[in-house]
Amino acid sequence: MRKVVKFGGSSLASAEQFKKAGDIIRRDTERRYVVPSAPGKRFDKDTKVTDMLYGCYAKAEEGKDFKADLKAIKDRYQEIISGLQLELSLDEEFKVIEKNFKAKAGEDYAASRGEYLNGIIMAHYLGFEFIDAASVIVFGEDGEFEAEKTNGILAERLGKIEKAVIPGFYGAYEDGRVKTFSRGGSDITGSIVARAVRADVYENWTDVSGFLVADPHIIENPPVIETITYKELRELAYMGAAVLHEDAIFPVRREGIPINIRNTNEPEEEGTWIVESTCQKSKYIITGIAGKRGFCSVNIEKDMMNSEIGFGRKVLQAFEDNGISFEHVPSGIDTMTVFVHQDEFVDKEQKVASAIHRMAGPDAIEIESDLALVAVVGRGMKSTRGTAGRIFSALAHKNVNVRMIDQGSSELNIIIGVSNSDFERAIQAIYEIFVEVQL
Ligand code: ASP
Repeated sequence: MRKVVKFGGSSLASAEQFKKAGDIIRRDTERRYVVPSAPGKRFDKDTKVTDMLYGCYAKAEEGKDFKADLKAIKDRYQEIISGLQLELSLDEEFKVIEKNFKAKAGEDYAASRGEYLNGIIMAHYLGFEFIDAASVIVFGEDGEFEAEKTNGILAERLGKIEKAVIPGFYGAYEDGRVKTFSRGGSDITGSIVARAVRADVYENWTDVSGFLVADPHIIENPPVIETITYKELRELAYMGAAVLHEDAIFPVRREGIPINIRNTNEPEEEGTWIVESTCQKSKYIITGIAGKRGFCSVNIEKDMMNSEIGFGRKVLQAFEDNGISFEHVPSGIDTMTVFVHQDEFVDKEQKVASAIHRMAGPDAIEIESDLALVAVVGRGMKSTRGTAGRIFSALAHKNVNVRMIDQGSSELNIIIGVSNSDFERAIQAIYEIFVEVQL
């Protein structure tokens, strides 16, 4: 067995957290490849090292004195090194970083040093080999991650190494310039490494015990989802349920490698398994509920719309021409509605409306704002009668007015549009009926 383990920033924020991670790794010799994040927050109001690096580099770029900021970053690492009683000095590394900051090596280079330095400490602490991600994770000139090239290089390199630490979050262009993924990107690195070594499992260690059925800010103590499919996860993640970076499922998905989300502070808990497919039933009919506020609907009416070929294309062209992506397009005989993100749309609404008039000639357009979308996701819904019925009666009982309904063609999800002010009540109503009452 071969396991790839990724530790998030809060799992490596201090020497104490490092020890927990170290114990987890040493407890199981199959945990052979380790992907660390940069040190995260030690307490609520603390600053992540990545954010300290961005701030420090911004000063360097403006030609301001950044010495004190860099010293504060060095202190964070020194605290970990001393707490672990390691014989390790990062003096030389910090000299190079200071020189490169002065030479304006770029924001991505700056941010990547968080993972890079944490990787050096982790490798030293565990006695594993350190591999600089810049030498194995490749980006193309267009800034896109080169999946196949990287996979070849990494597989070859790690094939010869029994145990290694590969820092998360960054790689490099072919000319050696460092490039990072988007924020939270160490999750992606972990997935890339798991694919390259054909791991049996990709363990993602964080500070929660897995994916929750609903947002704990809205529902008190929701249960952990034991098993979820990649597809379900994508639906929930898209709708705002954030534990794992959205792009982290793609590399492992190609190889059918399961992801196990675990809690560094509660290592005996099983966490959540993210798999391609499963015959395990969810505990409840639904797997999870998630949602987002801040949508607008553009309602378009035209008599005889149903018989006008190409009407929908012309309407959507108006959105495309203005660089706006749409979320959902429910339609009726003479009506069509397009849901968009309000913040992307507000500045362009009049341009889009006139483009629709020009291109599609509708009878009327009406724009509504402050809508929320709630997604009820579950592989079990397909084979269960009456799920939709139960959702809507629960909403009616809680006086939530449903403004839009959309059942995905996969029957994996039902999306409901409600007004922003009904958002939390809608989630509570659905949660109660499926999880608390378990109807
Ligand atoms: N340290 C980076 C961030 O804060 C990447 C990561 O933690 O995954 O976004």
